[in-house]
Amino acid sequence: PRVFMARNLCKTYRTGELEVHALRALSLDITEGEFIVLLGPSGSGKSTLLNILGGLDTPTSGEACWRDHVLATASEAELTRYRREHVGFVFQFYNLISSLTLRENVALVTDIAEHPMAPDEALALVGLGDRADNFPSQISGGEQQRVAVARAIAKRPDVLLCDEPTGALDVDTGRLVLDLIARINRELGTTVVVITHNAVIARMADRVLHMTNGAIAAIETNASRCPAA
Ligand code: ADP
Ligand code: ADP
Repeated sequence: PRVFMARNLCKTYRTGELEVHALRALSLDITEGEFIVLLGPSGSGKSTLLNILGGLDTPTSGEACWRDHVLATASEAELTRYRREHVGFVFQFYNLISSLTLRENVALVTDIAEHPMAPDEALALVGLGDRADNFPSQISGGEQQRVAVARAIAKRPDVLLCDEPTGALDVDTGRLVLDLIARINRELGTTVVVITHNAVIARMADRVLHMTNGAIAAIETNASRCPAA
């Protein structure tokens, strides 16, 4: 089934006299369990689309729905609830709190979720079950990003949104994080949308959406993969 629907999405930023058209009548459907990669030059609207999908931002005009949640016209309170219940975020920088253990970092999210995993279960899923009592400074950058992934999936989100998840990592470490994201998509059936410049992850996707100038210019479908739907 279709989980995300966008029609004629437009996002215009106004700063003084200047108007920037970040999205120009973009339309997109996403199927449950799909693994989607957004590719495109800087400024092409990838983050803007991801932020609307994740309820961090709303469009200037157009429709956007996640299942029966109307995102385009939702109030701030509705968007907050949507993010809390349905969306896991992973960003380029891991944003762990340095004074908290890894378990406590994950618990910050599971404490406010409806059907969370135990923090230790989420850490075990990313291969860090034995490090729960460590602090972020005691583990590597790649491991910190795996903790960020654990934090994102511990609330059992419907969709995992990743903005340049390997941007701060070397190739080998990045590869481990990508394998982890692919495994979450496959084994938990989580719909995944990733912004990346990484060619390896583009090959793992069901569909690669090439964005140019606020629109989807081309779509590559990887026929050898089947959405979990
Ligand atoms: P990408 O993720 O592909 O780099 P973005 O979605 O971040 O693209 O940005 C699309 C366009 O919108 C860019 O021209 C960017 O400068 C502009 N933009 C993004 N966020 C803002 C903002 N908060 N205020 C003004 N312009 C913005
Ligand atoms: P860009 O990719 O355009 O440089 P960022 O990835 O820094 O932009 O941020 C994209 C959006 O995600 C912004 O709206 C920002 O407010 C939000 N964001 C960034 N980091 C976090 C975070 N740790 N928690 C919640 N929202 C975040």
